[in-house]
Amino acid sequence: MTLSVEQASRLVDQPFAGGGWQEEAACRSADIELFFSTEDEDQRAALEHCRSCTVQQECLVDAIENREMYGIWGGMPESERRSIIRDVRRREHNGGERDKRSDAA
Ligand code: SF4
Repeated sequence: MTLSVEQASRLVDQPFAGGGWQEEAACRSADIELFFSTEDEDQRAALEHCRSCTVQQECLVDAIENREMYGIWGGMPESERRSIIRDVRRREHNGGERDKRSDAA
């Protein structure tokens, strides 16, 4: 799954079934150090877990809502999530009104 910043930031607006998604996480049995490593090879291995994860969107939304600044969450490295967080903040700052009108168009 490859989401654009816009698509990923819109996930925050979608209701999910609530907590408990961590029980389904593909990384539960993985070496968690991979997800916080700065080595390319480790990051690729972490992202491979994410690609097969059935709760990737829930994980990504949770990371964005909790402003997780470090590591790989929801199949995205921190640099990509920062773009999403900036987009969400911009929408929150604008009150979402302009976005709602543009959604209706
Ligand atoms: S998306 Fe990645 S970091 Fe999130 S729960 Fe799944 S495997 Fe773990």
